[in-house]
Amino acid sequence: MTTTVWWDINGCPVPDDYDVGKVGPCIKLALAKLGIDGPITINAMGDLKEIPDQVLKSLTSSGICVAYFPFNIVLYTGLLMDYNLPPDTQVFIMDYHNLLKLSAVVFSLKERGYNIVLVCPEEPAKEPPEKLPQYAGLDLHRLPWESVLQDAKISETCSVNCRICHLGFSSLADFTVHLNSEKHANLVDAMFSEPPKIDYEDSSEDDEDLDEQDDPKKQKT
Ligand SMILES: [Zn+2]
Repeated sequence: MTTTVWWDINGCPVPDDYDVGKVGPCIKLALAKLGIDGPITINAMGDLKEIPDQVLKSLTSSGICVAYFPFNIVLYTGLLMDYNLPPDTQVFIMDYHNLLKLSAVVFSLKERGYNIVLVCPEEPAKEPPEKLPQYAGLDLHRLPWESVLQDAKISETCSVNCRICHLGFSSLADFTVHLNSEKHANLVDAMFSEPPKIDYEDSSEDDEDLDEQDDPKKQKT
């Protein structure tokens, strides 16, 4: 069985503190937990002009097909009806508002034997879509977008550090800003223009063994 995912990237964006490159694997994992395996094609669609280049790059390099479609995604998924595709699993990732509009598409696909998974942000949805009258009586899977994404969240305990300035950063973007900062550059300059002061002459004789290898002056004597 094959699976096609339709993801409205404008309506269901990846929050800033999530690793975009992990979204594809997260979607596949969430579907696997529902017993859906086999080949999965993920289509991220929307007005790509709104999406930062870095995000698009991460998406495409993680195997997600990205497509420019600056209209409502429901319009596009409605076009699915025109194709006589063999029944498989269709996964729709879209906001609550669009999910309401999608019911006619979902109904028709269910009638034709498709397995349907709806993914929608928990907030600000007032009730789960399967409870909506539009979807009454339909056998659907439904997942909150937040729970699908949970493993893509960048861990706050995993940080990058600057050992020169003794600063830690939880985001790579902040770290990059720091590396380019004047403060960091000044400290690096200061360190390399002036070697760390270690008073070799004062080293006590007890420490001789430890110091010998590090101290060129002593090696000469
Ligand atoms: Zn630094």
